[in-house]
Amino acid sequence: MKTCLNCGELIGDNADECFKCHYNYKYRRVITPQEIREKREREERERQEESERRKKAEQVKIEQLAKNGGYEYKIEVVRDQDDSAGTIQAILTRYASDGWRLHTMFSNEIGREWVRPDTSLSSSRMLATYNQIVMVFERIIKPQQN
Ligand SMILES: [Zn+2]
Repeated sequence: MKTCLNCGELIGDNADECFKCHYNYKYRRVITPQEIREKREREERERQEESERRKKAEQVKIEQLAKNGGYEYKIEVVRDQDDSAGTIQAILTRYASDGWRLHTMFSNEIGREWVRPDTSLSSSRMLATYNQIVMVFERIIKPQQN
């Protein structure tokens, strides 16, 4: 806090003007009612301009969103096996004919423990891994506008 050089009121350190007597630190004097009015009008104008800028930016965003298509996604998991290529081909063909487009595809190694059923040996528990192929399909659900 600092003390107003004109009226002695306690004002904030960053304030450039006393709220009570309008002593202005930049002008080094009390500003006139005319200057106060002009300052208020200028601030009000700046507020309105800022508000209009924000409204305009929001409108642009809304219009842009309306132009974008909406999307939906579906995931298909394929167990990697002897004919995984054929399985993937069949899935791709089926999805493509329904308007889906392959967005992402990755494989995932899954570990699991299994017990060999045909033996009584205690060492029959084994760790095995297999690959999962994950396919992510994408489809536009809202038509794009021009
Ligand atoms: Zn003052």
